[in-house]
Amino acid sequence: MSAILKDSYGRAIRDLRVSLTDRCNFRCFYCLPHGEPPIAPKEQMLSYEEIEYVCDIFVSLGIEKIRLTGGEPMMRRDIETIIEKLSLLKPRLQDLAMTTNGYFLPGRAEGLKAAGLDRITISIDSLKREVFQKMTGVDVIDRVLEGINAAKEAGLVPIKINAVVVRGHNEDEVVDFAAFAREHAISMRFIEYMPLDSGHDWSREDVVTGREIRERINEEFLLVPSKVRRGSETSARYRFADGAPGEIGIIAPVSEPFCGACSRIRLTADGQIRTCLFSTVEHSLRDVVRNGSSRTEIVEYIESVVLRKEPRHYINDPEFVQPSRTMSFIGG
Ligand code: SAM
Repeated sequence: MSAILKDSYGRAIRDLRVSLTDRCNFRCFYCLPHGEPPIAPKEQMLSYEEIEYVCDIFVSLGIEKIRLTGGEPMMRRDIETIIEKLSLLKPRLQDLAMTTNGYFLPGRAEGLKAAGLDRITISIDSLKREVFQKMTGVDVIDRVLEGINAAKEAGLVPIKINAVVVRGHNEDEVVDFAAFAREHAISMRFIEYMPLDSGHDWSREDVVTGREIRERINEEFLLVPSKVRRGSETSARYRFADGAPGEIGIIAPVSEPFCGACSRIRLTADGQIRTCLFSTVEHSLRDVVRNGSSRTEIVEYIESVVLRKEPRHYINDPEFVQPSRTMSFIGG
């Protein structure tokens, strides 16, 4: 029986998101519109050895899934090395995944698979070149589509595709994306726009709700809820009623919060534990590891931090305060 990390509301923590870097080569307007702040000194970032060490401890505490993210995780040098190290934590670690913008996948996807990556999620917000460029700040849609193919060929399946849906930008493409999911037999996940942008330009009017996304798709392709139990998953999943391949996932943290089933914590690239995407406090695991703490002391620290996990996010409360760090720092 493996240990279980539990928060003070009885939620088991099984899922760790590890940000490998704050840096990103895209400038998505809903995330990092004004570019990266000055790069932090390398010493502040966790080394691969430190990431490997703390992930080993997390897995011994019952973490079953690790998702590598960022920033753009593939901007960190030699990520195949850390993937190889983390994959040694299997089978206790049941799932090693990564979220990427796909830009670096052509030519590298097979190496990731060989290193031990199980699955991949690729973000693409539009299938139209101009809209893609407007949303991400870079004119590289062909390269990302190539990356999706490379991932498929390398067997990093099932592939999930993420699209953040923002009013006035891409809500008219929801059905096109559903058709894309059917054609390529992929899991297409639509994400509500969250107040995590460095520009602090988020407004509720820009959020296209999960309900609207569902209704738009239903008009063209009838959806039926998947039978799989949702558990702690972020997305509500649907299949196509006509039996077509592919799947739709709707992630609606703003309009349909799912905090009650949250099983996630995050580790930033500079070694801070965040117990919620919207946390306004962070806990420096890096300092605890670097001040010579024993493994037992590190375990106790992690357990004490998890006990302080917030019951829910407060996006919909009048007193909501946007976290000072943006999605690219937190690790989406
Ligand atoms: N660079 C990688 C990528 O593009 O997927 C991984 C990091 S990115 C921060 C992870 C996910 O967070 C992406 O799918 C991105 O679209 C999403 N994201 C970023 N800012 C967001 C926001 N304000 N609201 C909703 N999703 C957001």
